[in-house]
Amino acid sequence: MPQQSIAEYIRHGQTPFFRLPTRTLDFEDARPVRELDAAILGVPFDGGTTYQPGARFAPYQLRRVSALVQPYHMGHDFDVFAELSVADVGNIPVSPFNAAATREIIEVGVSTVVAGGAVPFVVGGDHSITLPCLRAVSRCHGPVALVHLDAHFDTTAPGAWMELFHHGTPIRNALGEGLISPGGLVQVGLRGSWKGDDDDACTRKYDGRIVTAGTVAARGVEAVAASIRDQVGDRPTYLSIDIDVVDPAFAPGTGTPVPGGLTSREVLGLVGALRGIGLVGMDLVEVAPALDHADITSLLGAHLLFEALALLPRR
Ligand code: MN
Ligand code: MN
Repeated sequence: MPQQSIAEYIRHGQTPFFRLPTRTLDFEDARPVRELDAAILGVPFDGGTTYQPGARFAPYQLRRVSALVQPYHMGHDFDVFAELSVADVGNIPVSPFNAAATREIIEVGVSTVVAGGAVPFVVGGDHSITLPCLRAVSRCHGPVALVHLDAHFDTTAPGAWMELFHHGTPIRNALGEGLISPGGLVQVGLRGSWKGDDDDACTRKYDGRIVTAGTVAARGVEAVAASIRDQVGDRPTYLSIDIDVVDPAFAPGTGTPVPGGLTSREVLGLVGALRGIGLVGMDLVEVAPALDHADITSLLGAHLLFEALALLPRR
């Protein structure tokens, strides 16, 4: 469906993602999303943050800056919003005081989108929101391949914070719950200092693949993307982008930045080069607008969301 014109967008004063039409997500009824190819939803929750909070505001800020994104994708040569039916279905009504209830309502909301036949594009929020998204998607599709872009493993053991669920644990929990298909995990962008020599133990135990930020720089995004496409094959695949995969020089607006990350050109190129994978859901997490400068992190987030939407097959 086409974007609103700039004049319409300015006149009514609302700020849906990409100037798209809006739908209200009804948790009892998948019909409002049934004609959609993709539903974009916000999860304004950062109660899983271990360091600097603020990602709860990302859905609002990304809506605003995404108005600058135009519909035509130069590399793939198609008008994404003319050929795909995409809408902003609003935010999941989270509780800032109750992480368990929040996980449940996220799972219900994303399940509703999936049941309606639309691909969920989820804007967090911190990375703890990925676990309920994966639960919802894998309940429908079975265990999925997971392309995880992040500076961090997010496989922290529960002992570290005396808590099983936070933004450092979604991958450990997803693996433990069998949500990821065997050999289907690839983690891209890892770097920085580790707690110990076994930080990669969880990933290795489940036969996950690790592509460090240095490897991306050395091999180039095309080669890395080709190896990811080979690895995931025709499996249903979920893409989870933690914005801190990108270097703080290009994405300062995030809670746990790590120097030495991907450039914005690399990450956009990498996501674009995944075209052909069977994308069944994605999330973009850890954008913290209050820590940003001149919206550069939010703008990158909006363009990453657009790149991910452009991975969906044309109608
Ligand atoms: Mn991270
Ligand atoms: Mn993360």
